[in-house]
Amino acid sequence: LLTATGLHLSFGDNHVLRGIDLEVRRGEVVALIGPSGSGKTTLLRSLNGLAAPDAGTVAFDGGPSVTFDGGPRRAWGRAGRRAQAARDALRDRSAMVFQHHHLFPHLTVLQNVTEGPVQTRCVPRAEAESRALGLLERVGLADKRDAYPRELSGGQQQRVGIVRALALQPDLLLFDEPTSALDPELVGEVLTVMKELAEEGWTMVVVTHELQFARAVADEVLFLDDGAVVERGAPSTMFSAPREERTRRFLHQVL
Ligand code: ATP
Repeated sequence: LLTATGLHLSFGDNHVLRGIDLEVRRGEVVALIGPSGSGKTTLLRSLNGLAAPDAGTVAFDGGPSVTFDGGPRRAWGRAGRRAQAARDALRDRSAMVFQHHHLFPHLTVLQNVTEGPVQTRCVPRAEAESRALGLLERVGLADKRDAYPRELSGGQQQRVGIVRALALQPDLLLFDEPTSALDPELVGEVLTVMKELAEEGWTMVVVTHELQFARAVADEVLFLDDGAVVERGAPSTMFSAPREERTRRFLHQVL
């Protein structure tokens, strides 16, 4: 579904991505793990055009291959029209669930979920609403449709964040540590929803510190350190018999 090759990105002197290759097949769950600052979030953001790498390509099946060759071009606002069109081509195919839910505080749950499809995908409002209600029902939040985000628990807010991403009907779901800002007792309800999505066949790339989740749900795990993929493979192998010493050390620290 998605192929990224040779991604490099620097913030000033900080070379954050150092030649990353990534392939995501349809229906597959890829987990990105690694120490803080290893570049996981930046990689995820590069896949949907929120960050602009300095070099490399990203391509979705059937879409244009977006080549980054712009040098220091972090802010898309300064990029040319062609680069912006390329970014939009990426953005149309994926949807992101953030660490903090980023819901609009002044909009109700239903409005939060319908705004994206109506504004960015030109879906008629009535259709967007009926789709949103179906999705809210699925995650047990239909009765909260008229609530404001502040009236929800952190876990409920994050489930709305997931529904908002689903409502865009993307080919690829990107999750950036969706449970790391939650109280421990709320983590499970969000991971359960993510697990169900994986079982339903959604294609997902998940940055996570929840290694048990990665072990149970991911088809492939990539261990990143210092902007590079140190090791990749099936979770059963990676977690029980990592090949690389750096992977072993990381897993030893966190497991
Ligand atoms: P964590 O697990 O802590 O979220 P991460 O592996 O996701 O870490 P990134 O968030 O991708 O790592 O950050 C990688 C490096 O890039 C860090 O050194 C960070 O300080 C730097 N960085 C990230 N975003 C920016 C930015 N917008 N401007 C400057 N530096 C940034």
